[in-house]
Amino acid sequence: MKVLRNLNILIRPVNDTCNLSCEYCITKNRYSGDALRRETLKPETFQKLIAGIKGSQLQTVRFTWHGGEPLLMPDSFYREIFTLQRGLGGIDQTTTLQTNGTLVNEERLRFFKEQGVCVGFSLDGCKYSHNAYRFSDPKQFETVIGNIRLAKKLGVRFSIIMVAHEKNVRDVKEICDFLDEMDPPNGFTINPLFLGQGEMARLSLPQEEFSKFLYALYENRKNTGSFPGGYIYAAQKGLSKAVPKLCFFSGRCANFVSMNGSGDMFSTCYENSAYYLGNINATPLPELLEKHLKQHETKIDPQFQNQTLYREMGSDPELVYFQGKGCTKRLVDGRDPYFRSYIDLIEHVKKDGKKTNP
Ligand code: SF4
Repeated sequence: MKVLRNLNILIRPVNDTCNLSCEYCITKNRYSGDALRRETLKPETFQKLIAGIKGSQLQTVRFTWHGGEPLLMPDSFYREIFTLQRGLGGIDQTTTLQTNGTLVNEERLRFFKEQGVCVGFSLDGCKYSHNAYRFSDPKQFETVIGNIRLAKKLGVRFSIIMVAHEKNVRDVKEICDFLDEMDPPNGFTINPLFLGQGEMARLSLPQEEFSKFLYALYENRKNTGSFPGGYIYAAQKGLSKAVPKLCFFSGRCANFVSMNGSGDMFSTCYENSAYYLGNINATPLPELLEKHLKQHETKIDPQFQNQTLYREMGSDPELVYFQGKGCTKRLVDGRDPYFRSYIDLIEHVKKDGKKTNP
């Protein structure tokens, strides 16, 4: 029987509640159809998760606190949570708090630094216009930029996560200059804006645009030699015969689960009632994880119809580490719409590597 040793757990302590109202944020639409309870996370529920981890065969656990906006919970809540986490003893663990950056202040940053927490800032670029889908007031943008600078000054481990879309996709040089200036110690990731097939789909980034963006990003980064995180790093990693960190490049979607404030758990990194596993207050974690693995095998993976990046690129032995199928979250008719962009990038990096190191 397959057993999980490494697990990434996305926790939404306030579910989809947020102090911003980004135009492209579809969490409300995505979740509103779910008839599941929407409570704020209680430390007692988290304690059940910790007890479950202790009773499992997990060796590595990555906790990511997500939203909505997780910083709507007070520091006293996180103090209690981090104390519970410390009870995990020998298990290798990391914690990231993914925030929109508006509710950060010096005291909070010092607290997260002291607790060894990485702070992930969501920001779509270095100009207010890049962030037109996020902020309704330039002051919000200035606050976030200021808080990232403060995190840097205080020596907090932080990362930046951006979404590529119509408002920023052609400004690769400016975005890269900004990343060089901020130099996030835990790297950066840029995902394409994809809003499914509903009425918001008009905002999704066309696949060809994302391919062009990834090329331009690679060409820019190649000159600096700095590839901290994200797609390019994943392409390089796989080409150097190591498992790429990006789940949809390596096929590691089954290493992710998510949990909402009520303790309801789901396969994959987001909340989807079709992938509901059960509630941590009622079912021990090892049982939920067993169901999760079975669900991946029988329900989630078959949707991709045996497609992998490796197979699609002709089963070239040099590309064997690209066992990813694409992202479950973006799946439309059995395919991730950006699958072609991942292949374009990997083939481009491979060809370029051969040119530079013949
Ligand atoms: S849904 Fe996509 S991003 Fe989330 S774990 Fe699966 S492959 Fe990764």
